[in-house]
Amino acid sequence: MSTHKVSLEARHISLSYGPTEVLKDINLRVEPGEFFALLGPSGSGKSTLLRLIAGFNRHQKGELLVDGQDLSNTPPHARNVGMVFQNYALWPHMSVFDNVAFGLVERRETRDAIQRKVGAALELVGLQAYAQRRPNQLSGGQQQRVALARTVVIEPKLLLLDEPLSNLDKNLRVQMREELKHLQRKLGLTTLFVTHDQEEAMTTADRMAMLDKGVLQQVGSATSLFDFPVNRFVAGFVGTANLLDGEVTHANGETLGFHAQGIGPMTLPCPVDVPQVGPATLAFRPHTVSIRVRDEHVDASRLWLDGRVESSEFMGETSRYRVRVGEAVLVANQPHFAGLSLFMPGSDVRLGLECTQMRLLPR
Ligand code: ADP
Repeated sequence: MSTHKVSLEARHISLSYGPTEVLKDINLRVEPGEFFALLGPSGSGKSTLLRLIAGFNRHQKGELLVDGQDLSNTPPHARNVGMVFQNYALWPHMSVFDNVAFGLVERRETRDAIQRKVGAALELVGLQAYAQRRPNQLSGGQQQRVALARTVVIEPKLLLLDEPLSNLDKNLRVQMREELKHLQRKLGLTTLFVTHDQEEAMTTADRMAMLDKGVLQQVGSATSLFDFPVNRFVAGFVGTANLLDGEVTHANGETLGFHAQGIGPMTLPCPVDVPQVGPATLAFRPHTVSIRVRDEHVDASRLWLDGRVESSEFMGETSRYRVRVGEAVLVANQPHFAGLSLFMPGSDVRLGLECTQMRLLPR
């Protein structure tokens, strides 16, 4: 396997299908050897961007650099990019060996080289014993590994994965994402992984980019997107969030005034300096909200809001409450321990919001 790791860079890339602009001024840099996830809802443009990198789609504006070289005018077969498709695209009438050998045969490599390289690729994915089987004699996870072996055997500079785990059932998906990460580390191949599943992106990738409607929203590590989302779209897509629209009324370095729609004015004991008063969305995660009985003594470092439980759900590790506060409904998740009883619907409770866990987002 080649050891030279390459970077991938998109500069001001735009792509339209007819009058519809599907990718808008994409700027992105993936570092050599990095495992990078492209995350976004269906239709956001992820596959279009991936196919553009593979050379199957043509952008109208911008540059695509691999290892510093502009590939915009290089045809797909000359890009040395390996792509694994969602449906694996294996040849059903060929053995596993022949499927993996396909790209090498096309390149007219010698019989010895093919034997050696296919053997190594099958060993890499743990399928040496399955070389003579047909794809339909393999499980979904094994077919996925054949697709990976077939892609890495040609020693691509870049590995592109288009929702490679979405055809597998939940347990297998969790197992395969660990295998995928392990394989990527072993190969050290710069990898771009497309998924609509935020958990998949968070658990596998070094960094990720969030795409919505063809616009890159935010790029960073899983924790930076989760902890510091730049807008309400990212806050709601990467994890779940309570989002309160309203106005910042004052910030004096000690307290923050926020007038929330449906709740009214509140004073947060938060020493934040907000650049300006005006429209904003207050965002906070359900698991950072504490829930107490109404008359319990509560500490002053949090903002406490009185509410009434509308519904409670026991989910095992946590219990999820929907609590009406004024006209808003907030979600609070509590870790569960044996012996802890749930708040029932109708219970009067108090929700505690913690300053360090709240974000003000542009609106
Ligand atoms: P994703 O992979 O995030 O689900 P896609 O990249 O497949 O999104 O699609 C992005 C948008 O481009 C969608 O609105 C889709 O309908 C549109 N689109 C994709 N391929 C074509 C095409 N060949 N012609 C016209 N529109 C397309």
